[in-house]
Amino acid sequence: MYPWLSTTFSQLAQRKQDNKLHHALLLLGPQGIGKADFAKQFAGLLLCNKSVTGQRCGVCHACLLQDAGNHPDFHEVVSDKQIGVDQIREAIKKLSGSAQLSGAKVLIIYAAHTMTESSANALLKTLEEPTANTYLLLLTHKAERLLPTIISRCERFIMPIPDITQTQAWLNTQWDKPVDAEFVSLYASSPLTLLDELQQEQKINYEVFKTGLQDLLHQRVNPSQLAADWQEQVEKILKWLQFWLHLQVKSRPDLPNSLWQLHQHAIQAVKRVRNPGVNKVLVLNQLLTDIAQLKSVKK
Ligand SMILES: [Zn+2]
Repeated sequence: MYPWLSTTFSQLAQRKQDNKLHHALLLLGPQGIGKADFAKQFAGLLLCNKSVTGQRCGVCHACLLQDAGNHPDFHEVVSDKQIGVDQIREAIKKLSGSAQLSGAKVLIIYAAHTMTESSANALLKTLEEPTANTYLLLLTHKAERLLPTIISRCERFIMPIPDITQTQAWLNTQWDKPVDAEFVSLYASSPLTLLDELQQEQKINYEVFKTGLQDLLHQRVNPSQLAADWQEQVEKILKWLQFWLHLQVKSRPDLPNSLWQLHQHAIQAVKRVRNPGVNKVLVLNQLLTDIAQLKSVKK
């Protein structure tokens, strides 16, 4: 288990052991902290027939089936963009009979906030009165999008977010090449995203980004050219720009008004590109144009 989640895991395991575990758990927390792995491992513990001291045994029939991805009482609802009502109905049907292995039944719903209203409504009765020995684990990083009726029927768990020391320590066990400290602090609270960013062979990585930014500040490249180079990953670039400006703002006790405004501009830009139909490259181009006029941060 990820170090920052291990205490929560032990607490839940203890509750299970004491027969005090709620049948519907809502796990809340941002993306990239390991909620899905947490839920799967906890499901493994719930399904294990011989668990001792909060750990699955790893050798019983239930554990072996789960490791092979064949446990008949373990179910998942995964969504790409939206969880449709048919997916929920199908999942409920699987939970309705008695357990095939005479142990627990577990359903994990990932990105539960992507349930449509009818999906959520279809789930309500099961959340309220599940069949015996059934557990539902709902995961979300956007709880505000969940119906209040769903939230009220679950016990909520706010998953701990690692601090930068925990993230760095964990990263050291996963990645043996040097990483820009600025990049680590950018993803400090979502270590899995950080590792993912490092593992993917990115056309635009943080180094390329910083070089591009310096070229822009020294007029070696113009904003529209840079915006075009970065057009495939506008949302990510905007986040990086916001972060970079945040660092500039933090490092300037004499904070010039123009810099402060630019940081605000970046925050708005990150929000704007989330709306459908927005010309993202244009938004990026506008921000880069303003950054190009910054005189004070050239290094
Ligand atoms: Zn087991």
